[in-house]
Amino acid sequence: MNPVKVLLKDRLDQVHALNAVAGTPLRQFLKQKYIPRDSIICYVNNEIIDDQTYIIKQSEEVVLDMVRAYQLPEYCRTLRLWEDGSVEATPENSESVYTKNVLWFNDSGICDLKETQFNKEEFIQYVNDMFVQGVMDKSLIKEGGSIVLALSGGRDSLALLYLLRINKDRLPKHHIIGVTVAETVAAPEDMKRAKEAITNLDVTDYTILPLEYVNETMRFKNGFGTAIEKVLTTEGRGHSITLWHHVMRSCIERFARERGVFNISFGYHFEDLLASVFRSYTLGTLIGETAPIRTWGEFTHVSPLWTITKKELTLYLNFVAPETHSKQGSPTDYDRGDHNRDINYFMTDLLSSVWPGLGFNMFESLERLTDNYAIKQPRFDTCENCNITYTHAYGEDVDQRKYKHVCNHCSHLIEVGEISILRPVR
Ligand SMILES: [Zn+2]
Ligand SMILES: [Zn+2]
Repeated sequence: MNPVKVLLKDRLDQVHALNAVAGTPLRQFLKQKYIPRDSIICYVNNEIIDDQTYIIKQSEEVVLDMVRAYQLPEYCRTLRLWEDGSVEATPENSESVYTKNVLWFNDSGICDLKETQFNKEEFIQYVNDMFVQGVMDKSLIKEGGSIVLALSGGRDSLALLYLLRINKDRLPKHHIIGVTVAETVAAPEDMKRAKEAITNLDVTDYTILPLEYVNETMRFKNGFGTAIEKVLTTEGRGHSITLWHHVMRSCIERFARERGVFNISFGYHFEDLLASVFRSYTLGTLIGETAPIRTWGEFTHVSPLWTITKKELTLYLNFVAPETHSKQGSPTDYDRGDHNRDINYFMTDLLSSVWPGLGFNMFESLERLTDNYAIKQPRFDTCENCNITYTHAYGEDVDQRKYKHVCNHCSHLIEVGEISILRPVR
């Protein structure tokens, strides 16, 4: 365990001496210090070496020569990735249950990391305030309006329900129409939690859509269970999770039409929306005109939790709800995404931990793009089988559907024999 100095040389020829331990692979050292591999060229005793394979040695001089012009050490200290001499250290605080970091850019383009600690009461107040502010800023609730609230019984939708009820006097007067799509693959405990929360929180307008409603909406030949199992085995878990979400949305859209309410609220939180921004750029899928509001054919999808992270809503439920309500339902075979989907969440968390509040910058830029450029509105279609409102997210060019008058899922379900052919292929 002998300390070695690694010299980081920036483009202004300033040299920063960093402590390393002999025997550590350089690649590991770079990751620990948040030094991106592509930002440096490594010289050992004046010879270029491969930073991926070199092991730091006591007797050798290691110089990392930056090929980038940005001030890496300055960022690392501002973002508190390096906690050396000039960085203000966070003091120990046993009362604190949560620290919120946000990176602010001032008018002269200089950034500053704001850090706030909360004890339990302060934290509850903070989440309530963030929620109310997020709803008010984007006018997500209209005075005297009705909201269809899709309740799965999982943590996210429960947190949304709690926040709406706890803060109801600070929000425009509204009527909640709770709806749960029951007896699909949602665990029975999730159902129980949804029902209990509805009762505890005094929501009188609540409907559970039974399995018959699901099978009728989707016109499944052999029922929901058989259909999703077939999709899982023929197309993998990336597909079965989207089918599950699809079935829930078809049923909720049908229910909303039946009630004549076109404003549907979902429990999508900060990272769900940020991951969907990533997904739209990595996969080309469609996102809404702002993070919390998305026009979807005749419907408006609203995400009132857009300012709240998963961790925050989990802690919040833990503090305000009965113990059983802050548990996450156990995942089933169907609700695990594939890597295509999950990597966007990983990137969201990773980048947010380096640039706290990055999502808010992205949400705002999304809004500006929509306002300032004539972004073509998507064409929405209604599936002739399940009536879901869908769009051509991947474009006609990569559209895999064999049956063009139905949605992707129904097209596939016709092919595997779980839905009857409505019309032959044109
Ligand atoms: Zn369909
Ligand atoms: Zn499918």
